[in-house]
Amino acid sequence: MHITRRTFGIAALGGALGHAVPALAKAPLAGAQAAGVYRQKVGGFEVTVVSDGFLPIETKIFSGDADGAAKLMERAFLPKDVVATSVNEWVINTGDKLVLVDTGTSNVLAPTVGRMAKNLAAAGISPAAVDAVILTHLHPDHVAGLLTTDKAVAFPNASVHVSEAEHGFWTSPDIYGKAPAEFKAFFDLARASIKPYADAGKLMLFKGDGELMSGISTVAAPGHTMGHTLVRVASNGSQLLIWGDVVHNWALQFPEPDRALAFDTDQQMAIATRKKVFDMVVADRLMIAGAHLPFPGLGHVGKASTGYAYVPVPWNEQL
Ligand SMILES: [Zn+2]
Repeated sequence: MHITRRTFGIAALGGALGHAVPALAKAPLAGAQAAGVYRQKVGGFEVTVVSDGFLPIETKIFSGDADGAAKLMERAFLPKDVVATSVNEWVINTGDKLVLVDTGTSNVLAPTVGRMAKNLAAAGISPAAVDAVILTHLHPDHVAGLLTTDKAVAFPNASVHVSEAEHGFWTSPDIYGKAPAEFKAFFDLARASIKPYADAGKLMLFKGDGELMSGISTVAAPGHTMGHTLVRVASNGSQLLIWGDVVHNWALQFPEPDRALAFDTDQQMAIATRKKVFDMVVADRLMIAGAHLPFPGLGHVGKASTGYAYVPVPWNEQL
């Protein structure tokens, strides 16, 4: 129904003649948000964004001048030192397959994350029903959820898809040997998370760009990690680009995409990739989904007078 002067008038009259407003009862504060679950239709597919919680990320781990960063944070009404940064994952229901992209942190990182299992349950999705898991890359906040909090296989019926370049990097004895001591834990965690799937013959490696299954394809976007991958979802002429870790801080990196993250494996490559992806989604008016954009992290990118601007999608009641 469209709201017109006539229908609005009838609704308003009904309200006025209706029940008296009851007095407000005293109630305890809820103290927490409702489940972190949001759905978006992409053609005939349904994509469910599932929150794993948030990580407090310091602004000082981004490159570039600190004064400029403080101004950008102030402009975005955010604290200038630390930002509560969403960790998002996605379940794509194609109608005959259930595909999970990224898996959250399980219990390896911080008490503010590790909520994916609870939110999957709230979304009515059983981990046993997941047919395939695609990993954008093998950092702990994307791969660790392959295992439950007691280190069992979390998705017993799923194949696990990782880019060959990404897998090669994290499993190379040579690179491991040369990695600084503080990064060795990243390698150990990536290897331990995929191992039970590899042992069961369920680890599948893909090369850069290509279609993994009907309507779901991968796009190589290296820099943040060497095999960092975007996932393009396409159905009935609609598209969504799941861009993983192209952006870690929306307030800094949309206006100034040259700001790199200390955890980028190759910062210059990550910057070039970010600009290339921004230009592509601006030109194609493509909806994007970000792992670290504020939940649910769905939106569009526009050109601004300097740099780019993020335009989140409005909450949509109708699917
Ligand atoms: Zn990440």
